[in-house]
Amino acid sequence: MHDVWLGIQRTNRLFYLMTTADPNLLANIRIVLTRTSHPGNIGAAARAMKTMGLSQLVLVTPAIFPNSQADAMAAGSTDLLAQARICTTLAEALADTTLALGVSARRRDIVAEVLTPPEASLRLLTEARIGPVALVFGNETSGLSNEELSLCQGLVTIAANPEYSSLNLAAAVQVLSHEIRQAWLAHASWPQPEIDAATGAEIERFYGHLETALAELEFLNPGSPGKLMLKLRRLFARTRLAKEEVNILRGILTAAQEARQRADRASNHDAE
Ligand code: SAH
Repeated sequence: MHDVWLGIQRTNRLFYLMTTADPNLLANIRIVLTRTSHPGNIGAAARAMKTMGLSQLVLVTPAIFPNSQADAMAAGSTDLLAQARICTTLAEALADTTLALGVSARRRDIVAEVLTPPEASLRLLTEARIGPVALVFGNETSGLSNEELSLCQGLVTIAANPEYSSLNLAAAVQVLSHEIRQAWLAHASWPQPEIDAATGAEIERFYGHLETALAELEFLNPGSPGKLMLKLRRLFARTRLAKEEVNILRGILTAAQEARQRADRASNHDAE
């Protein structure tokens, strides 16, 4: 940190900054736009990203794409549109990420942690040392659904005017991309993440297993699951699960399922 600031005071500061900040970190930060209605916003978001050095755009079921309005709003960033990955589900977009943060103006009950844009930028850049991470933006009218938020480990809110806090989608992408760039420029050496974090796909498989096991144990009634799974997701999202922890939890679930099956077999046997 100290020598970065020394660097900023030097005359050839651009060169110094470029040699200290690692471009691979930005390449691992993915901007995910879910269910975007207006193609112009996709183009404007690509422009917002490219001006700040981000390049990985992922679109989850965009209403209209590709499209000339998207190209027009993208201006010199149409390369990002050409490379954009299109997914049919948010889970698919996040499958290989170890950290996904939902970007939302409204505070929800589902996600454990609410971060400011600078806090989120530090977290993303720290995790980006080991693999892909994502910022997830919602639809222009409805924002992020609870289901979409339940795939994220945290929430980022831009502290806007409480009387009118809803930014245009691409403007929100610009604010976050700018924050990430400032954090990236200011920090040369990042601490290693402490845990070997589980990926989105591993965590989703765990939740699937948990739900099945809880139904088999008759703790959860599949007919009326209520909010139990959402509450459990919230609990686990708060802990930042490591790969090994997911494996232990799944081992416990399997042991409980097997014990239940043995008990069922024994009581069927008695009844015969
Ligand atoms: N009416 C929607 C607003 C959607 S704006 C709602 O209430 O959620 C489109 C997207 O821009 C949002 O889903 C979010 O990702 C982002 N956004 C807009 N304003 C924001 C703010 N103040 N803080 C964080 N994200 C914001």
